[in-house]
Amino acid sequence: MVIALDKHKKPVGFVTEKRARQLMDRKRACVYRYFPFSIILKDIDVRSLEDVPSYRIKIDPGSVHTGIAIVGNNDDTVYYYIQIEHRASTVKKNLDTRRGARRNRRTRETWYRRAKWGNKTVGNHQSYDSSRKDGWLPPSVQSIVDNIIHWVSKLRKLVNITDCSFEAVRIDTQLLDNPDIEGKEYQNGTLAGYELKEYLMDRYGHTCQYCGGASGDPVLEVEHKHPKGQGGSDKVSNLTVACHKCNQAKGNRTLEQWQKELQAKESAGKAGKNPGQSEEKPKKTLNQIRIENIGKVLEGQAVGVSDRYCAWVTSSRRATERPLFEMFGADHMECSSGGHTKYNRTELNLPKDHHYDALCVGTVPEDGYRDRTNGRVLYVKAVGRGSRLRGKINKCGIITVKLGKRAKRIYGFMNGDIVTADVLKGKHVGHHCGRVMVRERGCFDVRTLTGELISASYRNCKLKQYADGYQYQTEAKRQKGNSSR
Ligand SMILES: [Zn+2]
Repeated sequence: MVIALDKHKKPVGFVTEKRARQLMDRKRACVYRYFPFSIILKDIDVRSLEDVPSYRIKIDPGSVHTGIAIVGNNDDTVYYYIQIEHRASTVKKNLDTRRGARRNRRTRETWYRRAKWGNKTVGNHQSYDSSRKDGWLPPSVQSIVDNIIHWVSKLRKLVNITDCSFEAVRIDTQLLDNPDIEGKEYQNGTLAGYELKEYLMDRYGHTCQYCGGASGDPVLEVEHKHPKGQGGSDKVSNLTVACHKCNQAKGNRTLEQWQKELQAKESAGKAGKNPGQSEEKPKKTLNQIRIENIGKVLEGQAVGVSDRYCAWVTSSRRATERPLFEMFGADHMECSSGGHTKYNRTELNLPKDHHYDALCVGTVPEDGYRDRTNGRVLYVKAVGRGSRLRGKINKCGIITVKLGKRAKRIYGFMNGDIVTADVLKGKHVGHHCGRVMVRERGCFDVRTLTGELISASYRNCKLKQYADGYQYQTEAKRQKGNSSR
């Protein structure tokens, strides 16, 4: 669908691609923005319309990708899909480079900036040169939050969005504590079952807690630490994640019994071996790994999980939630959990993709949504707005290549601008649209909507939209000959 605005650039709603093309041919509409593609209906004033449809935005935030779906408030129809690819790892990498550069300057004793050792809050005291205020997030996580908020406010200017559904938590902990809540979804414990498995998988990082993946078995199961046959309970504290092999090997034993048994086996195996043949550094056997990990499980540690990462993901969701509440108001916000999303997606029989996940956030109609997107998804990639560094730095912080001063705009174009380019000869002859990368000679590279890289002269390029720090693609796969509409 195409986003339509009235003559005062106020949101009207959606029109089909066909209708938009007709209107533009008759000069009754013109292009407002290429991404997301929106047109101005020149002879419509929203104030004269009886009722303007309102929409709901559904967001499924993630650490790499965020899915967004726009659905009608009253007609159970999905109109628009967007997938945003974040640049958290790039931000992290850039900061590591900067740290390296600064450290290098300090050790060379060409004084530049003192080390910020005390950059943590100690008690009530903020240390001497900390720039970390309350609500500080690592810059990589902050960039994810900013991306999402930027897109929601951008879309709100184009579409009359009044409501919001947001996947605020992966796991509904309240539900886990009292799984007997009444309600349709909770019957037979279906949703509770999903939430529980999701929770355990999340908590234990999709890793077998006994072998840490060493057995090579990809099938993960929910495991009772204290077996049910020996009186173990179904409580969350008694559950963990194990691969099928380990689960079978453990059988109906308690952790302590299994550990003892494995230790006995190991010592028997060692005694049988010829000591002269032993290598210098023998590889750990599966059982040795298991013995070690069982010890960890008994102490309550999780195997193969970084707590820090989980905390960041949680904090980024919380940081996104707050401005959303301010934007839409508490009455128009709906927060749900990841387990619920997965349950909905299974019920509606949708494939696993970020925009479908977004569609399944919160409540969904029983018969599913009517899809009017024509299967089109706008793929957005956050690429940043370039760097001010005038040199290339290696990981030790040494400047390896010095670049001369260069204008940011060349022949009126800047890196990241959206252009249309006519290629007159060569392999890529034809009309293309994409993100430009300027070259001083005037022979530009253009990343097209299908992800191809072509080169075109500045003379054949036409500026369509200024750079906004995002790269756009209309198709995930490479397919030729489709316009941005
Ligand atoms: Zn295992």
